[in-house]
Amino acid sequence: MTDTATAPLLRVANLHKTYGATEVLKGVDFTVRRGEVKALLGPSGSGKSTILRLMALLEAPDQGEIVLDGRRLGVNATRGRVVHLRERELARQRTDIGMVFQRFNLFNHLDALHNVMLGLTQVRRVPRAQARERATEMLARVGLADRTGHFPSELSGGQQQRVAIARALVMDPKVMLFDEPTSALDPELVGEVLGVMEQLAADGMTMVVVTHEVRFARRVADEVALFDGGQIVEQAGPDDFFDRPRHERTRRFLQHVH
Ligand code: ADP
Ligand code: MG
Repeated sequence: MTDTATAPLLRVANLHKTYGATEVLKGVDFTVRRGEVKALLGPSGSGKSTILRLMALLEAPDQGEIVLDGRRLGVNATRGRVVHLRERELARQRTDIGMVFQRFNLFNHLDALHNVMLGLTQVRRVPRAQARERATEMLARVGLADRTGHFPSELSGGQQQRVAIARALVMDPKVMLFDEPTSALDPELVGEVLGVMEQLAADGMTMVVVTHEVRFARRVADEVALFDGGQIVEQAGPDDFFDRPRHERTRRFLQHVH
């Protein structure tokens, strides 16, 4: 029997991905429970962005599965064989997964409001007036009520990243994935983005955050994992992870980021 209250919301099992001759993911397993915040740490090139791109259905794994809320994503496996979904079905499944990138990836020819509305009108077919209302609310939630008519070029990096968070949130995703969301920001702008993320976590959003912000991970994450060489090396609650790491690899990594 499964207990739905504690069943994982997101489960990744035996995920493999190879580019050319490089095996980037070597069988990754992990689960994220509903409302949980998971921080992924790890050196550059270890496969952190790749695993997020697979979970966001931006790319397909070579092997393994991604299960969100009891449903296997990206494929139709109901008749005993695995068939990859068509683009239209994928686009629909993707709306359950919010993704925030290091480089905000906003449309430069659209103002903040229209960047946030776009997914609602184009993918969800929400009427424009309703989309406008929800996008306005979401921009207010990330502290940008007074910036709805500004274009990306008229916004700071921190403001652009908050627009990107609003754009993901407005689709009402089940889980939010963040790929080093503050790494491209000037130091004085990091806090405003982490603040929005911390509030989101406090509101109960399920989140996977790839980050180098150790203090944020310690304060906000329920679980911290070290990713290295395409695998999870160690995974624990923040106090154990940072104060009592079990693996030498984790100890070495932490020496460099503290
Ligand atoms: P991280 O985010 O931890 O820095 P990535 O997931 O971006 O790591 O990359 C892991 C490895 O996979 C790197 O060696 C990178 O060069 C390689 N890689 C990532 N994406 C591609 C791709 N589209 N084509 C070829 N190699 C890739
Ligand atoms: Mg990366």
